[in-house]
Amino acid sequence: MNEKIQFKESKLQALEAGCRKNGFAMTVQRRVIMEALAERTDHPTADQLYDTVKGRLRGISRTTVYRVLETLVGIGVAQKISNPEAKARFDADTERHHHAVCSRCQRVSDIHDPQLNSLPIPAGEIGGFTITDYSINFSGLCADCR
Ligand SMILES: [Zn+2]
Ligand SMILES: [Zn+2]
Repeated sequence: MNEKIQFKESKLQALEAGCRKNGFAMTVQRRVIMEALAERTDHPTADQLYDTVKGRLRGISRTTVYRVLETLVGIGVAQKISNPEAKARFDADTERHHHAVCSRCQRVSDIHDPQLNSLPIPAGEIGGFTITDYSINFSGLCADCR
């Protein structure tokens, strides 16, 4: 089994466990959208995922894709990368990693760096907030836009 298929399988298992834990049904929509997200590493927007899954799920609406994505984020099997200047993007990789966001075309690439993964998290409360994790978004220009 290659790494990509393995990743997809592990995400589907996590989805099943997450649905069970939260009392949600493992619907075909949730399954197919999880699969489509796990297949890509380009951090697609909800609209891009809709374009992928509409060929696989007859009659699926854009609204359903948005709703299912929020559910996937809610049960912790996907993460949402919010950018105030652009549409939200989704990531099936929920392990700690960082992103480089192109300021021109909004492309999002992963940054895996052990040094960035071991920054000290401030202990205790900061302004009423207990920090549990972090993710860094770097901005700049991608290879195509440079
Ligand atoms: Zn770019
Ligand atoms: Zn990512």
